[in-house]
Amino acid sequence: MTAALSYAAQIVAGLLFILALAGLSKHESARRGNAFGIVGMALALLATIALVVTLNGLDALLLLLVAMIVGGAIGVHRAQRVEMTGMPELIALLHSFVGLAAVLVGLNSWIEVTSSGAGHLDVLERIHNGEVFLGIFIGAVTLTGSIVAFLKLSGRTRSAPLMLPHRNVVNLAALVVSLGLMVWFVPTGSGIPLVLMTVIALALGWHLVASIGGGDMPVVVSMLNSYSGWAAAAAGFMLSNDLLIITGALVGSSGAYLSYIMCKAMNRSFLSVIAGGFGSDGAVTGEARDYGEHRETSAEEVAALLTEARSVVITPGYGMAVAQAQHGVADLAARLRERGVQVRFGIHPVAGRLPGHMNVLLAEAKVPYDIVLEMDEINDDLASTDVVLVIGANDTVNPAALDDPSSPIAGMPVLEVWHAHDVIVFKRSMSTGYAGVQNPLFFKDNTRMLFGDARERVDDIRGAL
Ligand code: NDP
Repeated sequence: MTAALSYAAQIVAGLLFILALAGLSKHESARRGNAFGIVGMALALLATIALVVTLNGLDALLLLLVAMIVGGAIGVHRAQRVEMTGMPELIALLHSFVGLAAVLVGLNSWIEVTSSGAGHLDVLERIHNGEVFLGIFIGAVTLTGSIVAFLKLSGRTRSAPLMLPHRNVVNLAALVVSLGLMVWFVPTGSGIPLVLMTVIALALGWHLVASIGGGDMPVVVSMLNSYSGWAAAAAGFMLSNDLLIITGALVGSSGAYLSYIMCKAMNRSFLSVIAGGFGSDGAVTGEARDYGEHRETSAEEVAALLTEARSVVITPGYGMAVAQAQHGVADLAARLRERGVQVRFGIHPVAGRLPGHMNVLLAEAKVPYDIVLEMDEINDDLASTDVVLVIGANDTVNPAALDDPSSPIAGMPVLEVWHAHDVIVFKRSMSTGYAGVQNPLFFKDNTRMLFGDARERVDDIRGAL
């Protein structure tokens, strides 16, 4: 009876996860989507605990509770301390845990079957071996790929792509050899091909992400999210756990779709990115060029400019998140709107360090959704805009993406802010953005640099208005 109820609860939890994803696809329904997700996960946990107790008795419950309390305490500790700007690297690290879990579940599953002493393997055992092999392969790629993503996103290693000679051939060879090892492993269950494949998959995951340049990291993060979903689904097959299969497939497919949308937004080939920078010519990042002199301005001058303006567009980037300037920016926008100025926000799909990073910050600061526009919605209006305030954005407003085919961000659509009458760039120095590329925008005739912490400068302007 308990087992039947628990299976039913798993199906309801699966449906709630689908409703959660549907809700998260729009600003207006995102909170409701989150609530569905939380209820679904609570139900899934209760159903799993009930099932474990029914099938394995109270001893298993004790083990489960110890693991949950230790894991939960570490999770709460980390989540409370992480800055919003540190979320991407934390997420990358969490993806690596899913990969590790899939590898461990796979190895355990293999050991269980092997130790049962089966001689000749029947069809079901061969299918099981296939699940084990694929689960460990996807898990191992996710594990090391996510660790490299964590190291790159947290600045512990350089974000420039690793350009090994013949790297595409190396990746292809790793896949072909793994396929050969699978043909050996499935009918025999032998440990040698399994161990060899695990080593190859670990190296492949590391190499795939190491070969990706800084500007393409957003797609890689969502790809790894997708891989972690497939790794969880594979673990679900090995454990015969339907909920894990459903949840893993949902994460895997939604992550793959998000990667596809991001590739389209960034004008990148989906296949190139999943193949680890395949087709990239390894353009050198941060090549120094002489673009002339930049001009500086002051908060008072910007306040005077805004007083005269009829239309203002604000394009926030990672620096707004670092400075936590969103509340001041929201207040500045509200005050200008009270004076009859048309104020809108232009959001680049990869601004910040997380998909939707800027939207989350602006929603937190209660900026009305209807003045927050996507890049494609605002780009055509920039030529008729009086003032653009670039607040802590750099790569996402870099004209080199359109003008310089040798640039590492060449081909990536950007917010074409330089078409506006005046452009004010808020940042602390002339340093490059995440992709390590110089920005010719800073040297254009209609651009003025407002140096300093974005939050302080925005507060100065609010004071001067
Ligand atoms: P960038 O990372 O290109 O640039 C941010 C700018 O903010 C820097 O030039 C920095 O200049 C400035 N800045 C930092 N701190 C402050 C501060 N306190 N006050 C004022 N300015 C500050 O930002 P974008 O948002 O334009 O671009 C995002 C980049 O991140 C893209 O290359 C994208 O591909 C990548 N990325 C995006 C992910 C996503 O999912 N969105 C994930 C991973 C990577 P200075 O130091 O001089 O102040």
